[in-house]
Formats: sequence, structure tokens, C-alpha cells
Amino acid sequence: MTKIPYKIYLSEDEMPKQWYNIKADMKTQPAPFLNPATLKPVTADDLKQIFCEDAVDQEMNKTDRFIDIPEEIRSFYRMYRPSALVRAYCLEEKLGTPAKIYYKYEGTNTSGSHKLNSAVAQVYYAKKQGIKSLTTETGAGQWGTALAMAGAYFDIPIKVFMVKVSAEQKPYRKAVMETYGAEVIPSPSDTTETGRRILKENPNTGGSLGCAISEAVEEAVKGDNCRYVLGSVLDHVLLHQSVIGLETKTALEKYDIKPDIIIGCVGGGSNFGGLIGIFAGEKIQGKNNIKFIAVESSSCPSMTRGLFAYDYCDTGKMTPLAKMYTLGSGFIPSPNHAGGLRYHGMSPIVSELYHQGIIDEARALTQKQVFEAATLFAKSEGILPAPESSHAIRAAIDEAVKCRETNEAKTIVFGLTGTGYFDLAAYMKYNSGELTDIEVTNEALEAGFASLPKID
Ligand SMILES: *Cc1c(COP(=O)(O)O)cnc(C)c1O
Repeated sequence: MTKIPYKIYLSEDEMPKQWYNIKADMKTQPAPFLNPATLKPVTADDLKQIFCEDAVDQEMNKTDRFIDIPEEIRSFYRMYRPSALVRAYCLEEKLGTPAKIYYKYEGTNTSGSHKLNSAVAQVYYAKKQGIKSLTTETGAGQWGTALAMAGAYFDIPIKVFMVKVSAEQKPYRKAVMETYGAEVIPSPSDTTETGRRILKENPNTGGSLGCAISEAVEEAVKGDNCRYVLGSVLDHVLLHQSVIGLETKTALEKYDIKPDIIIGCVGGGSNFGGLIGIFAGEKIQGKNNIKFIAVESSSCPSMTRGLFAYDYCDTGKMTPLAKMYTLGSGFIPSPNHAGGLRYHGMSPIVSELYHQGIIDEARALTQKQVFEAATLFAKSEGILPAPESSHAIRAAIDEAVKCRETNEAKTIVFGLTGTGYFDLAAYMKYNSGELTDIEVTNEALEAGFASLPKID
């Protein structure tokens, strides 16, 4: 048998020419979005007030299995794609496992994560439509950075509402965004009605993702030819992220490798949905029986402890309602949480696949478990991983250790979504023993559920 190389590279020609739309293969579709004002299913026209036209058409598309990637987007992808699929030989050896572990590394671009795959597509479509500027929110900063890069490339002004505490704790992220020409506004700000209201009620607040989304949407709706872009959760974002899974499949097929387990971390669900997409579509058609594991943070356990219900995508209740696994838009993760993945809901596609049992398992991990795995991975594979990605690493390690105990040589693939260079404050806390595990109490969950809209 040919020895599998450390890195399976693809050529530029092997980069996907089309995205994969899993909805074309789903037997039951995700429930439609609801208009927040009328609670009736949204129309494409409703959505086009907020989002770009092509993004909305992709969002509503349930029939086209493959959708062409415009050449302008492929040119941009060529700067950092295809990404390598790496065989984790060193980690396997350290664990003494017969399992074969592979990871798809998305952290080699400057924004440091997979988010650029969708940012460039969304900015391209905005440009094509003649949109004059774009707004968004960012928490940890990866999405804002990705969007700033895409905005610079296509020459569209970007306004990023960055959660105030993050802007203060991560000045380097802000510096990167500003270097790419984006305007970064700490949220809540006095530039929007929502921001002014929240500041009046609570002048010392550090802000929240939900508040930043509300400010960004408000700005997009009232701005001149301005639109809002979102970096996760929505179906069109998962569509763009399908390049991750398509490349993984091509790389595996080169060496006739058949995965038994595919693992990804989940915040809003975009990298995981993109990684498993094509494989999940084939599973629906009975062509494989791969086990899919979604890994979330035990500080924000939407899949393992949330409800499958209609909820707002933002705290400000301005965005459409989605049927998803959710903790309630009023759920607030503990401020001691350092591992990312703090969104209250989950992609409607990922939620529906989990509900149908196509996604086999959701697993919640504590931050200590996650940083322990991150450190082991950094020492054995040489890459300093993002804390978000380290949720997937930990689950892959746990599966590989099980294989050691049962002496099974399973093939495990996981998504390594990003680099940890911008998360050194969290690593410092872990190294000095300050990072504690957080127990989400039933009371905290009940408070979040109480914020769910009443819909019958
Ligand atoms: C944003 C982010 C995630 C989580 O977002 P998803 O939409 O669930 O993929 C995971 N890893 C990294 C590095 C990120 O930046």
C-alpha cells in the first residue's frame, strides 16, 4: 500500500468549481424563516431589505444541488486554497493509537480561520449588485477581519460593530481590520438608536454579540444602499463553506481513504456544516454511514441542552426567526468563558440534520478539556490551534483513545478551523491556572428559554 503523505495537497485545478447545496438532498427541509414583525414566513423581498440579492437567492434555493462559484471568487480562493489535508502522524504516535487521524487546516490566511470562504463570496455579490457599503458585527474578531480583507479586495467600505470588551481585549484584531481599511466601532456605540438606548440603560456595559448585530442591522437598513452580512448560521454561509468538505473528499479519494468519523466544532454551525456537507448528502442517499460529531462548548450548549424551537437570531429581535436548537436569544454565556463558540443558536440546516439523526452526536466540552487538548496538539503537530478548533481536537483525541482501548484502526477526520495567535490572552489564563470550568445552571437555561418567542 502506498504510504499516505503528511500532507495531501490538491492542485489549483482540483479546487471546487461549484459549491454543494445540501438542501437539494434533504428529505425534510429546515423550517422557513419567520418575519419578526408578522411571524409569517419571510419572502425573498423581506430578506433583500437586509441582505444582498444573490445571498438571499442562495438562502432560498432548495433545488440546485451544485451552484457555480464565480470566477472572481475562485481567483481570490486561489490565494489561500486549496487547503491541505494533514495526516496527524505525530499526534497518533503520541496517543499510541491505531486510529488514523486527519485534519483539514483552514487557518493559513491572515484572518486566521475558515470565515474568509464566505466573506469573499458575500462581498463579491454585494459589489455585483452595486451595494455601496456593508455592515457587520464581530465578537472575537475573526469574522470582522475576514470581511475587512474581502472588502479591501473588492473595494467596498466595511463598518464592523465590535463587542466593546473584545475591542478592548483584542486591540491587535482591531489593528488588522483597520489596516485593511475597515471602520471598527466598539458596540454599544452612540451611532445607532439601539446603541444609544442600551448605553442610556447601562452606561458601563461591555456589550454583547446580540447588541452588535442589532446595531449593524439598523445601520444597514437605514443606510444608503447598504447591506448587512452575517458570518455563520445562515444557509448561504454553509453553502460557501461547502468548499471545505468538497476539498476534503477529493483529497481522501486520491488515496482511497474512507472516513469512519467526521468531527467539527460548532458555534453557529458554518464550518461543521461545510465540512460534513457533501458527506452528509451522500449519507442521506445511503452511500456511506459516516458518524458525524458536532462539538460545542459546555458554556453555551445549544445542541446538547437547548430546545429545537423558533427563536430570534439576535438579542435585538430585528433579524428573522429561525427554527433551530437554541438557548434563547436572551441567554448570556459566563464572562469567564474564553473558548469562543458563544452563539445562543445553531444553523437551521445543522439543527435539522441533528433532529433527523443524520448528525449522530452532539458533545459539549469544558474549557479545561479544550485547552488541554489544544496544548497537546500544539506540542505534537506544531500548530497553535484556535480555542474554537480545539473542541474538535479534543473530541478527535477522545475517539482515538477509544480506538486504542478497543484496538480499532478507525479513520477520523476533523476540521481545524483556525489559528490561536489572536487568543494568547486565553492561553495565558490557561497556563497560569486561572481558567476555570463553568457550570451552566438550570436556572440560567430557564432564564434563556423564557426569552423565546411564543409561537403556535
Ligand atoms: C467563528 C469560528 C468558529 C465557529 O463558527 P462556526 O460558524 O460554527 O464555524 C470556529 N472556529 C474558528 C476559528 C472561528 O473563527
